[in-house]
Amino acid sequence: MTTNHVDIWDNCLKVIQEEISPQGFNTWFRPIKPVKLEESVLTIEVPSQFFFEWLEEHYVTLLKKAVHAMMGPEGRLEYSVVIDNNTSEPSRIKLPTSPGTPGTNRRNLMDNRQLNVDRPIPNPFVIPGIRKFEVDSNLNASYTFENFIEGDCNRLARSAGYAVANKPGLTAYNPLFIFGGVGLGKTHILQAIGNSIKAHSPKKAVLYVSSERFINQFVDAVRNNTVNDFMNFYQMIDILLVDDIQFLSGKTKTQDNFFHVFNHLRQSGKQIVLASDRAPQAMEGVEERLLSRFKWGLSAHLQQPDYLTRVSILRTKMFQNGIELPDEVVEYIAHNVSTNIRELEGALISLLAQSSLNRIEVDLDLARTMVKSFVDKVQKEITIETIQEVVGEHLSIGPDLMRAKTRKREIVQARQIAMYFAKDLTKHSLKSIGNHFGGRDHSTVIHALQTVNDLMATDKSFKKSVNEIRKRLTMEIG
Ligand code: ADP
Ligand code: MG
Repeated sequence: MTTNHVDIWDNCLKVIQEEISPQGFNTWFRPIKPVKLEESVLTIEVPSQFFFEWLEEHYVTLLKKAVHAMMGPEGRLEYSVVIDNNTSEPSRIKLPTSPGTPGTNRRNLMDNRQLNVDRPIPNPFVIPGIRKFEVDSNLNASYTFENFIEGDCNRLARSAGYAVANKPGLTAYNPLFIFGGVGLGKTHILQAIGNSIKAHSPKKAVLYVSSERFINQFVDAVRNNTVNDFMNFYQMIDILLVDDIQFLSGKTKTQDNFFHVFNHLRQSGKQIVLASDRAPQAMEGVEERLLSRFKWGLSAHLQQPDYLTRVSILRTKMFQNGIELPDEVVEYIAHNVSTNIRELEGALISLLAQSSLNRIEVDLDLARTMVKSFVDKVQKEITIETIQEVVGEHLSIGPDLMRAKTRKREIVQARQIAMYFAKDLTKHSLKSIGNHFGGRDHSTVIHALQTVNDLMATDKSFKKSVNEIRKRLTMEIG
């Protein structure tokens, strides 16, 4: 075994590199410097507090795995954080190792109690006489409404979330169903609702759970013959926030139980909030009775942020982190990283990491180089032309026919499906969509959207075909 910190870290990097994308690796691991190795503690240096938090949130399991692989189960990792205080010399931020020992410049990654990435799922059922407000809500305090930036893309979801947080169970938004692509803020809103309710009603039993975790708990409960406890536990929750509900797809047994939990909570005036990567009508493998309940309340679509919202998100994040960047750099990033907010944050942070490591000013050139790795991947916004092509190909109809005057049934239907996706996946207005389809007016587009929605609800094979097209289109973007 090697005993030198540089070699050990190099080997850790090899383990890490296997598991994540080159972009993630370059952004988050290349900038880390090994500092020293003492006994079984490896110290690494990271460029900023933000960077540290990001690692903590996203990569702690992976880091742990790498460190254990290289140093055995005893191996531990600590890190020191450099702060960029806009002077030429970076200084060390002072982070307590543990409560009560302030003044050291390291923070213990492994034993930090805030880490919840691979904390075992707490089993609430085995605690006898648990009082319901003692339920571990599974909330991360850094997601709030205060730091959720509002824009056209998220206004409905945000304000519905806000209303629900203020009057859980008492608004018409029950369930509140939030849907949209990755990195657009679904988890942030769910968590913000939970945090806000906990702040003003600490006794309410709030629970944030991903549907994957719900499924795992259910499977365990079946195995251990504790399904009743499982159900009792969920039925005592006041505010149930279920993330990534799309993973329930195909899990009939779990859906059954979720259905009962759902009904029970709703009948007792409890609040349910669900997040999904797609609209209820586009979900596959989910029982109809459940889907129809998802539509009872309000479905709010999170869309890709528009340019102005992107600028304002960047500015706010810069402000929160005490960073200043030239306007042209901010505008450059906002122009070029447009798919989602997670990418936007990632671009900003990798820029800062570069600049603080190499002690250089962030200028447009640096921004260009850094953002390029993001842009190559993310700038591919889907266009109406691509939609027409993909839909046409799938239904064996030439894309130019969609713009033609013909009223042949198959062509009309293909056109309607393409319009439906144009509305769903691009930022074009109804009018502009109409224009792309041979100059039709916006009422034709509305009619198309309605027809497709209706057919999806009634015709299984139609729905299947539309979902297949969606898969191809989203692959096109991703
Ligand atoms: P999703 O769950 O939809 O994939 P997240 O909620 O995890 O997305 O959001 C991705 C990242 O972007 C998070 O760090 C989140 O805090 C941030 N984010 C998303 N929307 C906003 C917003 N409107 N304002 C500020 N930060 C946001
Ligand atoms: Mg999420």
